[in-house]
Amino acid sequence: MRKKFAVFIDRDGTINLDVDNLSKIKDLTILPNVSKAITLLNKFHIPVIVITNQPVIARGLLTKEGIKKIHREINCRLQKMGAKIDDFYFCPHHPHANIEKYRITCICRKPGTAMYKQAAKDFGVELKKSYVIGNSFRDIDAGKTLGTITISVASNQKGVQNLNSDYSVKNLYQAVELILKKEKLR
Ligand SMILES: [Zn+2]
Repeated sequence: MRKKFAVFIDRDGTINLDVDNLSKIKDLTILPNVSKAITLLNKFHIPVIVITNQPVIARGLLTKEGIKKIHREINCRLQKMGAKIDDFYFCPHHPHANIEKYRITCICRKPGTAMYKQAAKDFGVELKKSYVIGNSFRDIDAGKTLGTITISVASNQKGVQNLNSDYSVKNLYQAVELILKKEKLR
């Protein structure tokens, strides 16, 4: 049976190496132990949902289809190691976008909460029992607004940060270990 809570995970810097404006598959590097972490969540039927701001679209560097292609590639690489992300939600907007149709102050761009709310609805999970993991204040602030449990991970660009999260760990694998312990699953 699928669990009634989800784990919402940031993408750049948490799943894959944060290189500014990732737009080419050749620049995609999955971080160490990410597949191992996601495999554990899969094993316990906990929905694994990526929530990501992608102003790279608003900047005109990549189309929505291009982003989806990167997401398929991430899952393809993970699946080779037995792990699977259940879904990806992305915000293509930015208030100062080059591309006019994406130049808005939207409600989805984190720390906005619209993507989490949509995902919670789609997966039938309770936000207050769910977890938000990320390496930016945007993830943690969104998670706090929603009343989720927040876990910050270190950033490959900025190192360990003080983000006012409920928990602070080094990486996604440590975050997942903490979740499984809290949920008494191991
Ligand atoms: Zn948006």
